[in-house]
Amino acid sequence: MKASASSFLDRREAMKHLGLGTLAGMGIAAPTPAMAAAEKGHGPLKITKVRAIATNTQGQRLVVVKVETSEPGLYGLGCGTYNQRPLAVVTAVEEYLDPFCRGRDANNIDDLWQTAYTSSYWRNGPVLNNALSGVDMALWDIKGKRAGMPVYDLLGGKCRFAADCYSHASGGSLQALEDSVRSKIEAGFRHVRIQLGGYGSAHLSKGQNFRDAGFGLPGDGHMDSGPYLRAMPKAFEHMRNTFGEEIELLHDIHERIEPIEAVNLCKELEQYRPFFIEDPLAPEDNGYFRFLRQHTTVPIAMGELFNNPHEWLDLISGRLIDFIRVHLSQIGGLTPARKLAALGEWFNVRSAWHGPGDVSPVGHACNVHLDLAIHNFGIQEYSPFREATQEVFPGCPEIKDGFLHVSDRPGFGIDLDEEAAKKHPFDESKPGFWEPVRRRDGTAVRP
Ligand code: MG
Repeated sequence: MKASASSFLDRREAMKHLGLGTLAGMGIAAPTPAMAAAEKGHGPLKITKVRAIATNTQGQRLVVVKVETSEPGLYGLGCGTYNQRPLAVVTAVEEYLDPFCRGRDANNIDDLWQTAYTSSYWRNGPVLNNALSGVDMALWDIKGKRAGMPVYDLLGGKCRFAADCYSHASGGSLQALEDSVRSKIEAGFRHVRIQLGGYGSAHLSKGQNFRDAGFGLPGDGHMDSGPYLRAMPKAFEHMRNTFGEEIELLHDIHERIEPIEAVNLCKELEQYRPFFIEDPLAPEDNGYFRFLRQHTTVPIAMGELFNNPHEWLDLISGRLIDFIRVHLSQIGGLTPARKLAALGEWFNVRSAWHGPGDVSPVGHACNVHLDLAIHNFGIQEYSPFREATQEVFPGCPEIKDGFLHVSDRPGFGIDLDEEAAKKHPFDESKPGFWEPVRRRDGTAVRP
């Protein structure tokens, strides 16, 4: 006969009152020390405080959220970095999420995510998503610490030993780019993103008539499509001829050109076998992906600007992209990201989480924990951590032969030295805007 739930509970109750020898007599294995510790750790755990910690160790305005609990010394860290509007995230955390979260059970991560998400009624924007991400990741960190497990174990364990990464190579000329690519290969990377100068190779655009006419501000950038569209296939040809077929080449269009130009560029780059072409279209042009897919089989990576599930649902279910590369804090943290990863698995869309300098090391660690635990991992974007960052964040992920590794300590395995963080305040003289870029006539270009 099957044991009922109540008879199981009766046995658990009996276990509390009887000695271990008696348990063995009942055919129940005595709990191991780890099981006993885990059982102790599963009671209610109240959130007592939620704070935002701001620091500038990367030359980027990082925001990390710390969630404190009713268990002395038990806290979690999460990433809420939104470099262009960090103080808005700090305000959202401290004025709204802190009072919302206090007293709630830190164990129930999905419930807290759902209720905090709708607590603003209006939702899915970058500021509130980043603030929510800070809390969400911190709760996963706490759960891992409580369970004595790294977060990748909570998510089902490892599918691979480390996260294979791509690194950024850039140079304003073919020779400078070649040198940059070589340095990445020598550092152990098998995947290298190639950019001829900055996004859209803006340095190739000449004329700048809008400035002569006094339109915009003198510091506004200038980028026309033509020079970039002509130069990029030559850059791919040069790197393929120089480095052969072994190296995987990637490129980020960064949404800087018109949709039909992006389709034509992707078609032209197809012959050089890119690993992927990143963000060929702005999120506002999602409707063009079907057209892009009909004209080229270049692998497409998309999504670092996405905030809302409706931005990725059709692209994934329609098999219109190959890699989903959202910024985890920008979509609200690990809770929505693991669901997004599972959605991608059913359609064979792989991950390529956004990993730039304006993600805190806590966010990078979260990327890698998820990378390790999902079957449909594709590649991880890598940005190096400065020395100051490694001092402030003990336990930063470590790069070795192009693979990113995280600690196997419980939670995300990373900490934050708050006193050290204070030595790197935000530079208030730099508001951190994404500066405008314009065409020759002054028309604003999406970044
Ligand atoms: Mg990008």
